[in-house]
Amino acid sequence: MSADDPAAAGFAVARCHCRGVEIEARFPSRFCAHCYCASCRTTHAAGVVTWIGFPRGQVRFTRGEDLLKAYESSRGTVRRFCGRCGTRLTFESSHGRWAEEIHLPLALFVTAADREPAANSFAAERPAWAPFHDFGP
Ligand SMILES: [Zn+2]
Ligand SMILES: [Zn+2]
Repeated sequence: MSADDPAAAGFAVARCHCRGVEIEARFPSRFCAHCYCASCRTTHAAGVVTWIGFPRGQVRFTRGEDLLKAYESSRGTVRRFCGRCGTRLTFESSHGRWAEEIHLPLALFVTAADREPAANSFAAERPAWAPFHDFGP
């Protein structure tokens, strides 16, 4: 059992670029997927955003919650980011199948998560230039 073993740790840590905000996410996560939707593309200024989803009760801010700013990207869907460095931190929706979850960008994790990307979301919205991994049917 090593310190690098995510199962042993039981949680993973994510940080924004300025390190002002730190998040602890307790395993198990629910999914990990690449999202190609137009809202993720624009709000993150990226061709694809890789999300890992957790039940809300398993995620807590261990530092910098006061730095958070929120943006409602569509009705009932809030994306939070660091008000100091601008790093996008969370996706939460008050309705639909993700209502009980909080989604975090996998790119922000500084310790190992408990799963890797295994699916594509909104692939139909992917621009031709964005990188793509085919997970099959
Ligand atoms: Zn920051
Ligand atoms: Zn998306």
